[in-house]
Amino acid sequence: MLSDEYNLYWIICKQCGYRSQDSWQQDHAQKLRQLHINMKGCNDNSVALALEMTELSSEMESQPPQPQDGIDWMYDCLDVAKGILLEHHRHYDGTENCDLDKFFRESTFELFIQKDRPYAYAYINANNGTPYPIGINYNFVTQTAENERMLHIVLVHELLHAIHPDWGHNKITPEERKLANISCHYDAIHNMEIMYLSGKMRYCDV
Ligand SMILES: [Zn+2]
Ligand SMILES: [Zn+2]
Repeated sequence: MLSDEYNLYWIICKQCGYRSQDSWQQDHAQKLRQLHINMKGCNDNSVALALEMTELSSEMESQPPQPQDGIDWMYDCLDVAKGILLEHHRHYDGTENCDLDKFFRESTFELFIQKDRPYAYAYINANNGTPYPIGINYNFVTQTAENERMLHIVLVHELLHAIHPDWGHNKITPEERKLANISCHYDAIHNMEIMYLSGKMRYCDV
């Protein structure tokens, strides 16, 4: 039998349906569990650590995420991200005017699943203009509501790189946060922070 320190725990929330995408040693899993309670306001009793995903309630097991073959749905997420920018980023600093209609009309984006930068949510090559390749982390490959919401914000971030190739992360990240809040993506921010704190993710890897 394995001693306790080698056990890895998943975090499962019966209230909001959250389940962690990875498992951790107990002390770290406890921290992430508390973070979920603090940030999402879920009831303390609803958030559990589980040694096996099979400890999920039967209710939750009956609705596993359905793996998809293609990534067409990611292009729908790209359209949502464009919509967020069109609605909220035209006058991003109150004076300058982004001609986003023109930019999106003249630009195309090619999404693909990337495995070469495992710690990056995504990355974009913004140096050569259109078409812009955007690599999406393979952790997002399954179409779930959670992944869709996170991809909206991940793609807002990458589109900001394309729109403002001269911007560093000191400008990109605050603008991405502002847009995520304005468009009510609090759940996506929360889930991305858990991925970040777990050591699995950081932006762009540049
Ligand atoms: Zn929850
Ligand atoms: Zn970036």
